[in-house]
Amino acid sequence: MARLNPAASLLGLAAFPDDLPGPAGSAARTALKEVFGYDEFRPGQEEIVAAILAGQDVFAVMPTGSGKSMCYQLPAVVDGQLTVVVSPLIALMRDQVQQLLALGVAAATLNSSESEDARRDTFERLDAGALRLLFLSPERLGAGGLPSRLRRAGLRRLVVDEAHCVSQWGHDFRPEYRQLAGLRETLGEVQVLAFTATADSATRSDIARQLFPRPPLTVVHSFDRPNLGLRFEPKERPSERIESFVRERKGASGIVYTSSRAGAERLATSLAGRGHRALAYHAGLEAGLRDRRQDTFLQEDGVVMVATVAFGMGINKPDLRFVAHADMPAGIESYYQEIGRAGRDGLPADTLTLYGLDDMVLRRRQIDEKDVTDERRRLEHRRLAAMIDLCEVATCRRQGLLAYFGETSGPCGSCDLCLAGDEAVDMTVESQKALSAVVRTGQRFGTGHLAAILIGDATEAIRRNGHDEIKTFGIGRDRDRRSWQGLIRQLFAAGALAEASAEHGGLKLTERGEAILFGREQIAFRPLAKPAAGQRRSDRQGGRSPRLAGVDEADAGLFEALRAVRLDFARQEGVAAFMVFPDRTLIEMATKRPRSPAELRQIDGVGDRKLLRYGAAFLAAIASDAEAPRARGHEGPPDRAEGRS
Ligand code: ADP
Ligand code: ZN
Repeated sequence: MARLNPAASLLGLAAFPDDLPGPAGSAARTALKEVFGYDEFRPGQEEIVAAILAGQDVFAVMPTGSGKSMCYQLPAVVDGQLTVVVSPLIALMRDQVQQLLALGVAAATLNSSESEDARRDTFERLDAGALRLLFLSPERLGAGGLPSRLRRAGLRRLVVDEAHCVSQWGHDFRPEYRQLAGLRETLGEVQVLAFTATADSATRSDIARQLFPRPPLTVVHSFDRPNLGLRFEPKERPSERIESFVRERKGASGIVYTSSRAGAERLATSLAGRGHRALAYHAGLEAGLRDRRQDTFLQEDGVVMVATVAFGMGINKPDLRFVAHADMPAGIESYYQEIGRAGRDGLPADTLTLYGLDDMVLRRRQIDEKDVTDERRRLEHRRLAAMIDLCEVATCRRQGLLAYFGETSGPCGSCDLCLAGDEAVDMTVESQKALSAVVRTGQRFGTGHLAAILIGDATEAIRRNGHDEIKTFGIGRDRDRRSWQGLIRQLFAAGALAEASAEHGGLKLTERGEAILFGREQIAFRPLAKPAAGQRRSDRQGGRSPRLAGVDEADAGLFEALRAVRLDFARQEGVAAFMVFPDRTLIEMATKRPRSPAELRQIDGVGDRKLLRYGAAFLAAIASDAEAPRARGHEGPPDRAEGRS
């Protein structure tokens, strides 16, 4: 077996045993199909599974949707060793256990919410060595003599899921995770496996230091999610813009993030008023209501959740077709987590991020007002600055995003910027006009006022202040108001302008602004996108319909019929629709139209258990579609035409 080099692996250049598809490898492949119903590993999974089966400690950094859970579930299934999975959210654990049980894998969870009977049963199975996977919160793992009981039961592996929760540098620090480092020792010789989608390098090294006694095999998967369309737009009439975005994806499930609770309520109401199935979700709602809304979102197709960041961590629904941000996210890290919830099934999904000068100012102020150390504040400002850069980046969105995560790549060809093909142009002279308006009005007025001066609009406020007398008045009549507002925002984002004071939206020059104004520095910007609702070309990236991604016109009817069968099962069993079958599987059924259980078994996502449980109903739906009359105008073969009568 090839030696694993810890130094190389830290760089993500993991050296793997080249005899991978040995006995363990092929057993893993067999279990992947027989138990989980999948034909192929996703990138990275096979290597990680092999390393785990070979006894390595593994630290895997993989983007959301890459299939992290499979990496630790499969080894437990293959060698039957007891694996404890630590996870931050009860809902997340419950979902996983439910899914595993449905696949016939002995899994359980211990937490404060289950009954005394359920707990006793779990302990019995644990003591009898009948459990493969046990899901626990970090507090539960440390409580009540559980560690020694786990040792006796032969605990072999400790999985730390959402491992960034252990780090204060991460975006979701949870103090309970801190206990894990100490617990590892009381658990004895266990193999430690940590998984996270956190890409930030400070957070990564913190995780590795805290959780691993010796350097683990570190696998860093690419953060590129080519199936996610990336699109940013300056904020203009945001609720209309979000509505048109959602309307183009009607029938699909998705999330719209807002930065405030009130914003979430407002937007949800306005979407619902326009016929969308939209629900608000935020920490201000009563817990029971929140849970019900979350269940509706998970179980049914086509629900739009309008939410603050309180929503999402426990959401492993793989078939979200879009994530929109009605306000600029707080940082790239959270932006990436949030958009990462779309398209986890690998099918195309779209994202849209709206951003405005108000967001930039607000986010900055929020950081300044936080009660944190200076070091922390600097870090947050750096993160915010990176987010602003991504909004105003001149080349390729994806390139900018991946660069933040330390990856180099070429232009993607599919983001809004690549599609628009606009290049940055020198804007020094235009910028000087705007900066001069700032200086000549005493460095205390906001965007609207400044733009009005530039286009020569003598508003009441302008006349009152005598600003229609200054040299800059009307100097920018060749451009419209909107484009001046955009330029001012770009200057702010580029650090040439800053807030004049905390209360008013006034702007002042920075050192960089002065350098530009006095001609010591040049500045280039990309021309503003041309939105203006109504006259926009379709923003469906690549022209695919995301709702029916991968479904031909001819199969769309059957796909909808299969979704209906799926929804019936999901309701009967009280589980999320995707737990019955993910979209991907239904699409393959609609395309290949299997006619027997054996043919159905060939479909990706159909394992033995699910074939038994659901096979007949889905086969019946496929058979009845074949008999149903074709759409008018369809030139069917004669035998089909006869079947119509
Ligand atoms: P992550 O935790 O990395 O965000 P999950 O483990 O929730 O991702 O997996 C995302 C989806 O991909 C799940 O629906 C899962 O069943 C599916 N999946 C995982 N591995 C495979 C595979 N090898 N082939 C097809 N689908 C897979
Ligand atoms: Zn691009």
